[in-house]
Amino acid sequence: MSSPFPVEKIRADFPILKGNNRGKPLAYLDNAASSQKPKCVIDSLSNFYENTNSNVHRGTYELAEKAENEYTQARSLIANWFSVNPEELVFVRGTTEALNLVANSFGQSILNQGDSIILTEMEHHANIVPWQLTAERTGARILTTPVLPDGSLDLDVLYSHLQEPRSKILSLCHVSNTLGTTNPLPSIIKEAKEHGVKVVIDGAQSAPHYRIDLRSLDCDFFAFSGHKTFGPMGIGILYGKSEHLHNMAPWQGGGDMIEEVSFDGSSFAPPPQRFEAGTPNVADAIGLAEAFRYLSEIDLPSASLHEGLLLENARAGLQSIEGFIEHGTTSDKAAVLSFSIDGIHPHDLATLLDGEGIATRTGHHCCQPLMKKLGVEATARASFAMYNTMDESERLVSAVRKAVSVLR
Ligand code: PLP
Repeated sequence: MSSPFPVEKIRADFPILKGNNRGKPLAYLDNAASSQKPKCVIDSLSNFYENTNSNVHRGTYELAEKAENEYTQARSLIANWFSVNPEELVFVRGTTEALNLVANSFGQSILNQGDSIILTEMEHHANIVPWQLTAERTGARILTTPVLPDGSLDLDVLYSHLQEPRSKILSLCHVSNTLGTTNPLPSIIKEAKEHGVKVVIDGAQSAPHYRIDLRSLDCDFFAFSGHKTFGPMGIGILYGKSEHLHNMAPWQGGGDMIEEVSFDGSSFAPPPQRFEAGTPNVADAIGLAEAFRYLSEIDLPSASLHEGLLLENARAGLQSIEGFIEHGTTSDKAAVLSFSIDGIHPHDLATLLDGEGIATRTGHHCCQPLMKKLGVEATARASFAMYNTMDESERLVSAVRKAVSVLR
């Protein structure tokens, strides 16, 4: 199997990929956990600290102005990528913080005793626990949507939850980090709107692979992490429709999120500043914008096809191993391959793969309810990005075969 995607050209942009793992050429197949960074993103960070570093918002000197301008431009560039207004993007630490913000501020303001929050069995803990905490505080309850044997959502159950009069919020992932399932958001969001249910999307696994037009997707909130989208660690985005952000109470208080403070009370800045208390992560926001500038030069649909071929190749090779089970087999799944092999513990498998230079991940992938549904404690997971090669996909297959022969 070969791929027409110019992968070697892309790889040249990622310095770490030239390195080794346990003395063998690194095959980095843990992209669902965190992606690698192109040189331009790394350079943008050192460039900020070498030439621009100063605090934003209150400076009256040239350097502070420069930092402020770059920070503002970063927000505009990312907003442009997602076809929304800069004021609708809140800089946060990542998907986890974004979802906590929505659950705490928006969730608490619209949920009452007996209302429902709809989740799905394929959610990451970051899209479960914040809602459980909010449910405890408000008296709301959580309705779950089952996952079917192929890894797709049971849409009949989801749609019946949406029809319940007390359903207020649906929060679900765009792409599952474990199954690779891509949920049919346009029809789900349309159905939710017909019943007045607000939709929160965990875009942690879709933002790195697709260009998403949030205006036409028409969800109420969308969250993702920079470190999975070829950007820096410690930065992410919460998109919220302007009408919601304006009506939401602050989540954290402090400097930069206020209009006026007195001991009689405080008034708050408009969004997004209202949700960005304290000194923001300026360097990483600029680095994240650089990641999207880099992505704008890449043909993402071709990159996705390329990733799909790597997945297909790995799956075809692994299927011939006795006892191989793939978790999530929907036809349009993202390039995430979670699997079990009868009689072999995924941690033992990953340790042997590591010795072959191959970085994969094992565990519950922060999806314990899904593991329970699948009837396993953990799975092995290889997740591909646009810079992975067919050779790496082949190496995965050979290394798993070799490991199985050692472990059985
Ligand atoms: N949601 C999904 C689907 C994820 O895959 C992850 C990370 O693996 C998260 C949320 C949490 O992301 P972060 O740890 O960057 O906040």
